[in-house]
Amino acid sequence: MTALSALRGPQAPALDLAGRTALVTGAAGGIGRACALRLAAAGAEVRAVDRDAGGLDTLAGEAYGLAGTVEPHVLDLTDLDAAERAAAGTDVLVNNAGLQLVSPIEDFPPDVFRTVLAVMLEAPFRLIRGALPHMYGQGWGRVVNISSVHGLRASPFKSAYVAAKHGLEGLSKTAALEGAPHGVTSNCVNPGYVRTALVEGQLAGQARSHGIPRERVLTEVLLRDSAVKRLVEPEEVAEAVAYLCGPHAAFMTGTSLLLDGGWTAH
Ligand code: NAD
Repeated sequence: MTALSALRGPQAPALDLAGRTALVTGAAGGIGRACALRLAAAGAEVRAVDRDAGGLDTLAGEAYGLAGTVEPHVLDLTDLDAAERAAAGTDVLVNNAGLQLVSPIEDFPPDVFRTVLAVMLEAPFRLIRGALPHMYGQGWGRVVNISSVHGLRASPFKSAYVAAKHGLEGLSKTAALEGAPHGVTSNCVNPGYVRTALVEGQLAGQARSHGIPRERVLTEVLLRDSAVKRLVEPEEVAEAVAYLCGPHAAFMTGTSLLLDGGWTAH
């Protein structure tokens, strides 16, 4: 662990996670993949959790040659007991896995609503629950919850997603208050629209719901409120996660780190 005195000079100590274990959910693609590679590059032994076995195998290959390692762990997070067990012994937990369905509330299938809440809110609760005993035992731990602008703002047709992300914000803040005396921080990272499969999948759904052609969805719907008119790259999100795991972020807890291109400045 970096001593506070080491932070006082002009030379920032690099993120060093050698000897640390990090669990990243939803690691087979998009933001999770970028986080797993970033943490492995900092030396962590990354437990990469996803239900997509093929994506995890690809990721493990991409991690070859990094300072740390990536170990694939195939798991469907709706198996909440298994999720809690998988988190035991981890030093860094990145709750990232997610899914989206764009549909008006009156048409929204209740079983999909339940699944979204299970994967994006209940599983993070169980993973934190599984990780905390080890973190508390050693007096150090980092919980990073990949929330969204939709953890702080709503959009029409995303009832389950917005509800889950708002819930995740509350869970993250509660974990921050409980974890502080034990050296455990908990924060959210809140991106705007990121260049991933999840956004690709939304373009068609949003076009249907808004009744406009697919090519107009990006500029007129997704980026309408973003002052910076581009998608965020997964690597930019992963760098924010790395910062929250680093020595300069020990005082930062219970907060939400926005990468939203100015969306919430409105
Ligand atoms: P993605 O679809 O590229 O990746 C999500 C991963 O989660 C996939 O690999 C998928 O297999 C996994 N997953 C889904 N359900 C699972 C389950 N039941 N068990 C195990 N794994 C499961 O998505 P992404 O864009 O990288 O999103 C990652 C996170 O970032 C999500 O929480 C999402 O809400 C959040 N986010 C994304 C954006 C964006 O614009 N892409 C913006 C803000 C926040």
